Amino acid sequence: MFAYATESLHLSEAEAYLRIAAARAARRHPVLLEMLADGRLHLSAMAKLAPHLTDANRERVLERAAHRTKRQIEELVAELQPRPDVAPAIRKLPVRRPEQEHTRPAAPPPVAAPATAARATQAELRPDAVAPGAPAAPPRPAVVQPIAPARYQVRFTASAELHEKLNRLRGLMKSSIPDGDLGALIEDAVSEKLERLEARRFAKTNRPRKSPEETDTTPSSRHIPAPIRRAVYARDGGRCCFVDRNGNRCTARDGLEFHHRHGYARGGAHSVANLELQCPVHNQYLAELEYGRDRMQRYRKGVREEMAPYAVASLAASGRALEQDQLRPDAVGPYLTPQTGPGAIAVEPEPVSRLSASGTL
Ligand SMILES: [Zn+2]
Repeated sequence: MFAYATESLHLSEAEAYLRIAAARAARRHPVLLEMLADGRLHLSAMAKLAPHLTDANRERVLERAAHRTKRQIEELVAELQPRPDVAPAIRKLPVRRPEQEHTRPAAPPPVAAPATAARATQAELRPDAVAPGAPAAPPRPAVVQPIAPARYQVRFTASAELHEKLNRLRGLMKSSIPDGDLGALIEDAVSEKLERLEARRFAKTNRPRKSPEETDTTPSSRHIPAPIRRAVYARDGGRCCFVDRNGNRCTARDGLEFHHRHGYARGGAHSVANLELQCPVHNQYLAELEYGRDRMQRYRKGVREEMAPYAVASLAASGRALEQDQLRPDAVGPYLTPQTGPGAIAVEPEPVSRLSASGTL
């Protein structure tokens, strides 16, 4: 079957495996085929669920699996068969120094990293302890995998600098986290950073000084008052408010901006009722609807003078409007410049030392 799928149907190995696994599962549970046909289940979901489906749980599990993303299916599987927490571990990855790629093509055999993730000793973790001449492992993408309800295994490659900082943090937090648990350290650091960023961008605080009712919402300046930003963020649940034609709300939570329903440039107030959170893509879409696609495109090509008032509006509409230097009419609006592009790619030298960290959060 595998040979037929790869050699006759010219499927990739992964695609072939997926279809074979799905077909075998459908033989045991024919309802899977119905769900695949009407779009309630995708092939990846079938393959992931198959080992956990029984006659007893089939109906209940498949009802919950309908129309779920691959990530949601993984969470469901983790619930069906929870795995124990993994121990925090840091292990060194083999590295190659850039100059040796050319001068020493016949490098000695690589020094293998420990086969099992184990708590590395301080001496093993020193960057200079890494064997020279070992080939660089290709950078592996970070992995966030559900292993049980509300438990995730996180695996990523860290720089030597991050590893050193974690050691320093571990020392400083000895009293609150005596065992130096990596997951707890990272959770603490991330929580503090989140608190600071959310306080700055969305004015989140436990001690608000003013309520939205006490706040002047006339758009006399571009600054959106903190009580208003706070109330809008809380009301919108920190998520983009865009709702498509089918009534589905956008799930984006990244780079959220404040959007004036009645445009700021047209006199729209900084009121809770007139503001909503939008992701950059939908904020741009709404700006095009309001000001016209042609004008927005011309603006992006550099006709800034003509669109300056709108640029100010867009900046004021975003959380980033808080920084005064970003409020200048000549400043670039958050949705007016592509976030990515040739100029945005930072080319960094190959790191001297890479470390791989993993644990449960
Ligand atoms: Zn959105």
